[in-house]
Amino acid sequence: MAEIKVLFVTSEIAPLIKTGGLADVSGALPVALRSIDVDVRVLVPGYPQVMAQLGPNEVVATFAELPGFPPSRLIFSIMKSGVPLLVLDCPSLYQRAGGPYSDPDGHDWVDNPLRFGLLSKIAAVLSCDESPLSWHPEIVHCNDWQTGLTGAYLSVSPGAVPNVITIHNLAFQGNYRPHKVQLLHLPPDSYDMNGLELYGNMSFLKAGLYYAYHITTVSPNYAREIQGDELGFGLQGLLQGRSSDITGILNGIDTEEWNSESDKHLPAHYSSARISGKAANKLALQTRMGLNQDADVPLLGVVSRLTHQKGLDLLLEIVPRLLELPVQLVILGSGEPAMQKNARYLAHHYPGRVAAMIGFDESLSHQIEAGSDMFIMPSRFEPCGLNQFYSQRYGTPPVVHNTGGLADSVVDCNADTLKDGTASGFVFSGMSTDNLYDTIKRAVDLYHDPRKWKALRKNCMSKDFTWETSAKAYRAVYYKVLGR
Ligand code: ADP
Repeated sequence: MAEIKVLFVTSEIAPLIKTGGLADVSGALPVALRSIDVDVRVLVPGYPQVMAQLGPNEVVATFAELPGFPPSRLIFSIMKSGVPLLVLDCPSLYQRAGGPYSDPDGHDWVDNPLRFGLLSKIAAVLSCDESPLSWHPEIVHCNDWQTGLTGAYLSVSPGAVPNVITIHNLAFQGNYRPHKVQLLHLPPDSYDMNGLELYGNMSFLKAGLYYAYHITTVSPNYAREIQGDELGFGLQGLLQGRSSDITGILNGIDTEEWNSESDKHLPAHYSSARISGKAANKLALQTRMGLNQDADVPLLGVVSRLTHQKGLDLLLEIVPRLLELPVQLVILGSGEPAMQKNARYLAHHYPGRVAAMIGFDESLSHQIEAGSDMFIMPSRFEPCGLNQFYSQRYGTPPVVHNTGGLADSVVDCNADTLKDGTASGFVFSGMSTDNLYDTIKRAVDLYHDPRKWKALRKNCMSKDFTWETSAKAYRAVYYKVLGR
């Protein structure tokens, strides 16, 4: 008998549709929650990628006449992971080529307010007395701005259950002109400072944060940072006011998907005790990416969105200096055109030493985590970050900026932390090319001390990143909200 019933609402879920960390969390956290007796069902839009991968399914509800929205229906299916899925099928809003948020050219879909307004609206309908389903959640768990209006709709719904929202990235807010309030049939008085108004716009995320019973974010450090001016993105006042309702819970990772002993994407498997397979991955990666097949030169890996947030402009700037150390560099990512161009230019200019693949490639991302010697994440801010977990687990110590979840999950390597067995990467403070360079140099120097490098790699691979601890923390939040 499940202890709590939770509707988990998300705009992406691995392995069906993924643009970033939210998908990884949505794919794995419900599995972990179900294993501790939380009956979670996931609501997700029916993008083509989702519809194409559905197993056996049935239509469980239709919504023909929701004011302001085109007709839609709910399809029930069960994911391979065992998690029950409610797919919101609305072909006029979701069945189109491109990504979940943007068209094939990378421009945001102009009807995103309607697309995610509907997702929020249906989440609210399923979480109050109006629900056509026999399964009734006791809590609705929203994620990021795309689900932010749920609480606003629930504020006027009979029998509304409490809602919790998780911030995966406060920088994305879904802010639109105020007339959308009417178009989306939101409660008229919700357009207020005490509601979803934010500096003269209506804001999906502000609504989410204002109406939520409890707010969580994906690391304890980020929970503190977003209450300050630097990383509050205009919402710090609200967040400070709700300080006692905010909990930071570090993400876990899917340790089956990310297991160097069985990873289907890897040409060779390895473990901490049988590390030789890692060298085979390095050689295979160098070969695949056209890098010189040199076992001894340290290979730096990057898998990332290529955006200002991720700080990779700093890395690209110091590539010529780094290559003198020497090192090799492999980059997988896509994002801002200028950064993509720069990465391509460097690969062209330094053949055999720098390789860049512009695009999204799940398989290559695993091969980079396994085949690189160290992993570079100089994010300006990072709510949690996942690649630093993957790289530690794959024995590829990360070099990270001292921010958000990176600071919570990587222990800087120095004489003391090496001695006590906690060192698991290299952490730098102060975003500057010199600080990044000095820290990568520190990592390269240690790499050339095989005994210490082996010890560091072993520490990394022995850390526990399972979802179990995080799932228990989410369950505690649910209990608190329900007053149990
Ligand atoms: P964010 O969600 O801000 O993009 P995270 O580190 O939390 O950053 O999660 C990013 C996820 O997306 C990771 O699983 C990472 O491996 C993956 N990823 C990012 N870019 C790519 C890419 N170009 N190809 C494959 N996987 C990628």
